[in-house]
Order: sequence, then structure tokens, then C-alpha cells
Amino acid sequence: MLKRTLKKAYLNLLLHLPNDRIYAFHNVSSHPALELTGRKLDTAKFHDFVLRHGPYISLEEMGQPGRPGGKAAITFDDGLEDVYTIAYPFLKGKGIPFTVFVLTDKLDQPGYLTTAQLLELAADPLVTIGSHGTDHTRMGQADGEKQRHELVDSKAALEKLLNRSCKYFAYPFGSYNDTTLELMREAGYTLAYAVKGRPLLRGNHNDPFTLPRLSIDDTTLEFYDR
Ligand SMILES: [Zn+2]
Repeated sequence: MLKRTLKKAYLNLLLHLPNDRIYAFHNVSSHPALELTGRKLDTAKFHDFVLRHGPYISLEEMGQPGRPGGKAAITFDDGLEDVYTIAYPFLKGKGIPFTVFVLTDKLDQPGYLTTAQLLELAADPLVTIGSHGTDHTRMGQADGEKQRHELVDSKAALEKLLNRSCKYFAYPFGSYNDTTLELMREAGYTLAYAVKGRPLLRGNHNDPFTLPRLSIDDTTLEFYDR
């Protein structure tokens, strides 16, 4: 209890400084068929959080140097169907940009985005599509060959489907190792995202391939109330 209270105080302090923040969401509804990740936020809480934690910019804009801090970016992991059915109409209505990190082997599977939904999202200038690999591999525990497959083949599949370059990757489980970081450059990504429970550092002190995100779900929401 004390530990959680201290953690909340620490994060509140960090979040009140003019740091940029990147939020990682998974499911944003409680529809049983859509609860695939074990990380979920009720839709009403998702709406409330988004309305209270902006202003929002895209990951592309956040990556540009010399910009004033204190902005936030929204990302969704796994390419779940409720990104399209629940989050997209809400965020589009508010003009809020966001990024979806897709698992290429899961497209058209129950509870995940269909190819048609992905194409519709990708056609919207508010939406950026990145890769989350093919099948949710824990990169830090996979051998080099498997890691290369995850990085290179998921990127190629998305680029073929969307007819544009795929520059961003989010590590499943936030997991990576030295091999991952070497392969990241070789595979041609420009930025990659982990989950570290803290905002970005001010200035240019962030490693472009281990950018920190804050995972927002029912188990962490209390830490980010303000
Ligand atoms: Zn994931």
C-alpha cells in the first residue's frame, strides 16, 4: 500500500513536469470477445483519461527536435478490433492523432483488426501504423533469426499492404536485448518503443530504439490520476 502511494506520488511529480508522454493502450472496452490481452481499460475510463491528459501530437511530431515539451502521444498495441470500433470514432471526433502497432499474423483473427479496418485507419491522416511483430514474440528471449523475422517480415508485410514505409516498432511485453537493437537499425526502423513506466526525458537524451511508454490499463490507472 505504501509502495503504491509512493509510486503514485513519484509519477505525479514526473507527469507535472513539462515532459512528453507516450501512452500505451491495449483493449479499451470490456466486451468479452475483445478482451485478448489481459490489459484493458473500460471505455468510459479511456474517454476520461484521454480528455484529461493531452494535448496530443503524433509520434512523428514528437520525434522532431527543438519542440517545446509537455505533449502526449497515444498508441495502441496488438491491433485489436476495439481500436477501430471504440477508440477510432472517439479520437477522430476530437481530432486526436494516434498510432496502432499491429501484429501482422493476427490480422483478420477474431478480436483483431480486419484488413479492411486497417486500410481504413491507415488512410486517415490522424493515424500512424507501426509494427508489433508477427505473433507477439518476447524479443529479449528469442534467437537472432527469430528476431530478424519479427522485425523484417512484419515490416515488409505492412509496407506491401499499406503501400508506404513502416518506420516504428513497439516491443511486445516491452522486451528487447542487444541483438534486437542491432537488428533494429539493419531492418530500417527509425524509432522503437518499450514500456518503462516513465515519460520521455527532456532534451535529446532518449535512445531512439528504447523510447519509454506508460501502459494505461485498469491496473495502472490510479498512478496517472491527476
Ligand atoms: Zn502487445
